[in-house]
Amino acid sequence: MKTTFTYDDYYTYATLEEHLQFFASTYPQVCQLESLLVTPKGRHVYAVTLSIGDPAAKPAYYIDGNTHAGEVTGSMAAMHTIDYLLTNMDSDPKIHALLERVTIYVIPRLSPDGAERYLTSAYSLRSVDRPYLSKTQQPGLYEEDMDQNGIIAMMRVPSPYGAWKKDPHNEAVMIKRAPDDLEGEFYQVYAEGCVEGEVTNPLKVAPALWGLDFNRNYPFGWYTENRQPGAGPYPLSNPENKAVVDFVLSHPNIGGVATHHTNGGIILYPPGTQSSSKASKKDMRFFREIGAMGTEEMGYGCINIFDSFFTDQEAYSSGAFDDWCYQSQGIPAYTIELWDLEVRSGCGCPWPVPKEPKTTAQKAEDYARILAWCQENAPEAILPWRHFDHPQLGDVEIGGFDFKMTYQNPPRSFLCQEVEKATRFTLRMAATVPCLKITNLKQYQVGEDVWKIELSLANTSYLPTYVSDMLMELKLPHAIEVKLETEAEIVMGEKCQTIERLEGYGCIPTDYSYGAKIRTNNYEPIEKTISWVVKAPSGTSVSIAIDSPKAGHLKTGCTL
Ligand SMILES: [Zn+2]
Repeated sequence: MKTTFTYDDYYTYATLEEHLQFFASTYPQVCQLESLLVTPKGRHVYAVTLSIGDPAAKPAYYIDGNTHAGEVTGSMAAMHTIDYLLTNMDSDPKIHALLERVTIYVIPRLSPDGAERYLTSAYSLRSVDRPYLSKTQQPGLYEEDMDQNGIIAMMRVPSPYGAWKKDPHNEAVMIKRAPDDLEGEFYQVYAEGCVEGEVTNPLKVAPALWGLDFNRNYPFGWYTENRQPGAGPYPLSNPENKAVVDFVLSHPNIGGVATHHTNGGIILYPPGTQSSSKASKKDMRFFREIGAMGTEEMGYGCINIFDSFFTDQEAYSSGAFDDWCYQSQGIPAYTIELWDLEVRSGCGCPWPVPKEPKTTAQKAEDYARILAWCQENAPEAILPWRHFDHPQLGDVEIGGFDFKMTYQNPPRSFLCQEVEKATRFTLRMAATVPCLKITNLKQYQVGEDVWKIELSLANTSYLPTYVSDMLMELKLPHAIEVKLETEAEIVMGEKCQTIERLEGYGCIPTDYSYGAKIRTNNYEPIEKTISWVVKAPSGTSVSIAIDSPKAGHLKTGCTL
């Protein structure tokens, strides 16, 4: 896929900003860059608007990335999509048509502070490097790059009570001590790190200093810290979360959302707070059918969060963006978990969550498979165990592999293929949003200075003009308003008429049925005609304004 920039390394903030500014200055008619927020560390949360023509007058699709600091593949995917659209819009008629029809909003890096810390240090963190529950590091073992190789790996500490031992067949692999394993060398395995305060016995692991989780801070299904770590003191307490919500609310034309995360190689759809069996069947079918395009493009399955992703359906975590979009705004939203190291290394896809958890022996095999994959495909990520004279713990061994750039994100040589897949799916998804079209406008004389005006409107897309049953249930604005503006006297028909809804072709109840017969069942209109009778001399002009919250704003007119 042709792009202006390369996608074989992760962008620091400076590069991301430079590329965004390049796009905005090179394509000023199509690409607008705005800052939604200056973070506490002085970085911008940028939003990009891509549109040929007035962005607010069209249906829109929204993409974001990097809600979680370490999931930098997500922001690379969002950047790739912007780049691909702009680079090819003049040469590829399909892209040109998409940008004419649909506005695309992109917030490529929702947590620039968190991502920068992740990319420029050895640390891993959830969303952002701001102290959360405590202002200072609490006592205990905390993650630190002790051997200064730029990577926080694992640390095996010899202990007679150790729960782990070296695999006798492959000392790079740690295996669990068997229930009858009484003789031998045993280890506790920790993250590479050092101890704040006293070295205790047993060694205490300190809580993370930077524990905020932006995907637990949205104002739908929010719970407190005791239930979902990183929740924050109240919904939208993080300025980044508030900026995103304000952005979505101030762009009511958004009819579809993709939020990029890592990892797993799975496409998730809401609800995440109850079973999909309790949600609208039609909406769930939309999610599955649109998601199937993701499976085609990415090779990733598409599953419901609550039914197939969560391991705990009682004390599940929520307050996530996709649920807020769908369950409080009626906007179909997908969380795309990019990158699938487990599948690639032969461990199988962890989702849908299997009925029986893997055995310890199976997990050990998986660990060995992951190491073998890294050895073959990203040897730089392998960290052979090495003795290290730890200032607090004495002789320990540090090793394992670079989790950040193998498991959490693709090794750099695999990044481009991953973001290309994401772009292909999101652009197909963007084409599903409802879109109004005037299919007929005619006026004819029915008496002396009396005219009948007829207007037909259709929705040309898969999704209906109300986007989801959920939006209707939430009683959010969805009706199409058609307003006649003229000097003529209106004899019949209201000046302002309302079309409650137009279905999309995705609403038609039809399928392969018994006997391989195909039948289209009755469906609600996709196209409707409204009319007025007006009285005015010939030559009077009439204009018509059509406004749909999700399917666009159109203007037309005629002369009597
Ligand atoms: Zn995530």
